[in-house]
Amino acid sequence: MQCICCTSEKISSSDLALFGFDVCQNCGLVFNSKRGTQGRRNRIENHYQHIDPHEHVASSKRPFFKSAISQLPAPVDRDMKILDVGCGYGYFLKTAANRGWIVKGVEIVSDAARRSKELFGEQNIFHGLLKEANFPDDFFDAITMWDVLVFVDDPFEDLKECVRILKRGGKIGIRVRNVFFHRAIYRLYKTLKNIALRFGIKKPYVFHRYCFSPKSIYLLLTRAGFENIEITNSPLTAGDPYQHSKINGFVSLVKFFVYLTSRVIYVLSSRRWVVGPSLLIWADKPEGIQN
Ligand SMILES: [Zn+2]
Repeated sequence: MQCICCTSEKISSSDLALFGFDVCQNCGLVFNSKRGTQGRRNRIENHYQHIDPHEHVASSKRPFFKSAISQLPAPVDRDMKILDVGCGYGYFLKTAANRGWIVKGVEIVSDAARRSKELFGEQNIFHGLLKEANFPDDFFDAITMWDVLVFVDDPFEDLKECVRILKRGGKIGIRVRNVFFHRAIYRLYKTLKNIALRFGIKKPYVFHRYCFSPKSIYLLLTRAGFENIEITNSPLTAGDPYQHSKINGFVSLVKFFVYLTSRVIYVLSSRRWVVGPSLLIWADKPEGIQN
């Protein structure tokens, strides 16, 4: 078995083997190779339609969306197109459209795709997978994938598709969970589980099919053909959308403290240690790339 990020074959099971996860010893990618692709699309659709408190989570991301769009150049004297992969109900697209972007989205959850089509027009939202949309070469000025790459079947293939459909010099923005943080929190929670349960605090860690470390996402983007890769701590969602604790305000306070600490570590390590719960990544398609 090979790691999709660094191609190393040094893969071993880990303390997360219980959940079916393997770890790349070279770059730190944690992934679940046993979860087959059969029925995955239905499972994701079901999850986002019925289980995930979608609107709470999406609205908790509003401050993040605002901060993310402000990091892209505003379209001033020419039309600029942005594609949001996994656009959901169109919350980020709304933010982008307000800044003057021509927006397009791809979404696999049918309810969400329908709602986005109502908002942005049938021709601007594709219901299906990124590759099925068949966008032309060198088409977009920017592509965003907020908390999406962890769910796709093959992140390497999807990123290569992004390189193909981005214009030269175009930008990609990606948000993923930081496996470095979630493994540490998993170990801590396991040790303090009884105390946490007494205070009604649910498990605060999350492991998806692909769990990236800063090094693994860097190597994956490089392998797919991106350059100028910048990885920072992502601003966190607002409030407690997943209702981790029954104590009002407790999670917000802890999140604020965690974010502040991760920022301090980032600055003190001269931007080398990115230890926060989520990563925000920006990268460019090279000016001279051949598709
Ligand atoms: Zn690796």
